[in-house]
Amino acid sequence: MIPRSANPCQTPSWRSALGDAFVCPEALIDYLELDRSLLPGARTAAARFGLRVPRTYAARMEKGNPRDPLLLQVLPMGAELEHHPGFGTDPVGDLAAVTSPGLLHKYQGRALLIATGACAVNCRYCFRRHFPYQDAAGGSQRWRGALDYLRREPGIREIILSGGDPLMMADARLAELIRALETIPHLARLRIHTRMPVIVPERVTDGLLASLKNTRLRPVIVIHCNHANELSGEVHRPLQRLRDAGGTLLNQSVLLKGINDSPEAQIALCESLFETGVLPYYLHLLDPVQGAAHFEVRREDAIELHQRLRRRLPGYLVPRLVQELAGAPAKMPL
Ligand SMILES: *Cc1c(COP(=O)(O)O)cnc(C)c1O
Ligand code: SF4
Repeated sequence: MIPRSANPCQTPSWRSALGDAFVCPEALIDYLELDRSLLPGARTAAARFGLRVPRTYAARMEKGNPRDPLLLQVLPMGAELEHHPGFGTDPVGDLAAVTSPGLLHKYQGRALLIATGACAVNCRYCFRRHFPYQDAAGGSQRWRGALDYLRREPGIREIILSGGDPLMMADARLAELIRALETIPHLARLRIHTRMPVIVPERVTDGLLASLKNTRLRPVIVIHCNHANELSGEVHRPLQRLRDAGGTLLNQSVLLKGINDSPEAQIALCESLFETGVLPYYLHLLDPVQGAAHFEVRREDAIELHQRLRRRLPGYLVPRLVQELAGAPAKMPL
């Protein structure tokens, strides 16, 4: 339900923030006062998978630092064009798991709905960077097939809204989808996988909070944050409001070379998450997606890093180190 105070004709501030995002490598490089030698690589890679960086996110990067851990997640680079054996376009077998347009049913008890293909930010390591959203993503008409499937599968207790980023949908559309899901009696939990509260904190609107408060489904919000610097002050209040609306807040991150592959970076991330009321959930090994090989951390190094975290953090702040394998019955612990 949209609160009466919200004017439906007004553009929400998060939409304006998206419209104002950097989409041109040159503008981002100049804004961050970086060397223009980065430009040719950035332009070539961006021609394959576009640059998209909201200013709210760019503002948390350090000017003049080409190794900034937030910048490296989003800046297109020449290295993306190199071919590496074993790195493909459908690394986790998603295409085989599409049961009806927009719905992935891989694991028992939960199904994942690709609510939209759009994202607020383009992460260079994204495992769905080649995913054919046009074919597989559901519009409201196509949701019907997904909803019918869910209705027929009483074993499914949890629906995961993913994408893309499901919070790219307008509040009214999201509310409509949640209302439809609610009518399926065996569904108990609504999980939302989103990077929005971190990238564009304004997205946590009264309308969104109302939808979460009003549904009988238990909401779980899994944010996606890879580095403590992403959790600036402006992110705290929206996360708190999500929690106040009844959401259980978890974080998933991807282990990325040169970004968060040191014990210090991981400890700072886990502790900052806790400060903002979020528990670490998964630390994913990079999916071998074409164009992202330069982010790969070797398996042995990942395991060693994880062991160090176990020694230095309380158990509840250690994320589960997992890998997604095509055809496996769950995310696989390492
Ligand atoms: C990751 C994923 C899930 C959720 O797995 P959990 O271990 O419950 O977090 C569900 N469905 C698909 C298709 C997934 O990729
Ligand atoms: S927000 Fe998630 S789905 Fe979107 S580009 Fe980043 S990693 Fe991929």
